[in-house]
Amino acid sequence: MTHVTKAVKGTHDLFKESLRCQQAVVSRAREWLEAAGASEIATPVFELTEVFERGVGESTDIVQKEMFTFTDRGNRSLTLRPEGTAGVVRAYIEHGMKVWPQPVRLWYAGPMFRAERPQKGRQRQFHQVGFELLGSASPLADAEAVALSYRILETLGLRDMKLKLGSVGDAEDRRRYNQYLREALSPRQDDLSPDSQRRLSTNPMRILDSKSEDDRQVLKELGIRPMLEFLGPGAREHFEAVKRILGGLGVPFEVDPAIVRGLDYYARTSWEIHHEQLGAQSALGGGGRYDGLAELLGGPPTPGVGWALGIERVCLALEAEGVSPPPERTLDIYIAPLGEEQLELALAAAASLWPEVRAEYALSPRKPGKAIREAEKRGARFVGLLGEEEARAGALTIKDIASGRQQTVPLNRVREWLESGGEL
Ligand code: AMP
Repeated sequence: MTHVTKAVKGTHDLFKESLRCQQAVVSRAREWLEAAGASEIATPVFELTEVFERGVGESTDIVQKEMFTFTDRGNRSLTLRPEGTAGVVRAYIEHGMKVWPQPVRLWYAGPMFRAERPQKGRQRQFHQVGFELLGSASPLADAEAVALSYRILETLGLRDMKLKLGSVGDAEDRRRYNQYLREALSPRQDDLSPDSQRRLSTNPMRILDSKSEDDRQVLKELGIRPMLEFLGPGAREHFEAVKRILGGLGVPFEVDPAIVRGLDYYARTSWEIHHEQLGAQSALGGGGRYDGLAELLGGPPTPGVGWALGIERVCLALEAEGVSPPPERTLDIYIAPLGEEQLELALAAAASLWPEVRAEYALSPRKPGKAIREAEKRGARFVGLLGEEEARAGALTIKDIASGRQQTVPLNRVREWLESGGEL
């Protein structure tokens, strides 16, 4: 194969089972989210780079090294979206959704782009389905969002999941925590990875998220205290309420005192859902509260909470648990013209059956035996033979492949006949 017949590293073609799985995940999510009052939003796949610089955070790994950024012909810096929230909040501000009845619930699904090192469960183009609830600071909103993210996965059939719930506190709490981290980690600065040495001055909390073995070792040796111990009274009370409400909803969770999410804009509630059989890339999704985000993007103060699920990961988890995607609709009938004169009629016959009946036709003449073999290969239940006699009578000879029985049915009654079960 030459290189132009291969998809770019970290990107994948989706078809048959892989695409059907993605569609099944999105339709299950749609079912839950629309039931909860959310409407779908589709924002552009690229935005001004600044939307993500501000909305995801300058100090995050995403903005620092994972964005696909390019300059357009007008010399604007644009970026393929690495996540969905910043664009949705940009749209909320742009379209004045603040004057809609609050809160506004939106959901989306689509491709995201991150220049990460590809591995199992990590692509450069991947897909997310996500939910944003804007305009409420109530812990009810957090609990609703967490519950929806969990129930969608649960009703897809996943069992081996862990919901890890934490809080990253309010801005003031994080300032105190970052101060603590700086003081605690500075004496061991030289033992940290280069990335984390940089984070020590920009955003020490990011170090807790580090995958470097050296960093993890230093953190362990120093017995670093978790963020949860630094919550102020406001964030603490909010966290207690979220836990109580989630308990009432029967959503199983465990408190993760050290949870730090990859995005800068999170405040208070933060959670991740992991799958036990996925290895290194085990996060199926995550979310959090982001009360300061709208203002960061130049909009009115708007509290919000949301999440995103990684669809490829969810499909890997479903596969690991042996849950298969719903089967493709099977072919009902394969229509074969027996001679040149019946070619166009074969197409017309198939077209008259669409979309209720799944029908394919042969684009060149077939002998009956070959037509039956082809129909079988395609998984069709019936083959429709269209010869001179049938054409004259305006009919189709339909053969039940399994039983071998056949019947001639007027063309204008074939659909009805097939829909009623095609009793021969
Ligand atoms: P994040 O926006 O980083 O919290 O990501 C939310 C979810 O998207 C993660 O839990 C993953 O399931 C998925 N995800 C993030 N990055 C990737 C990637 N590069 N490839 C595949 N899935 C990803």
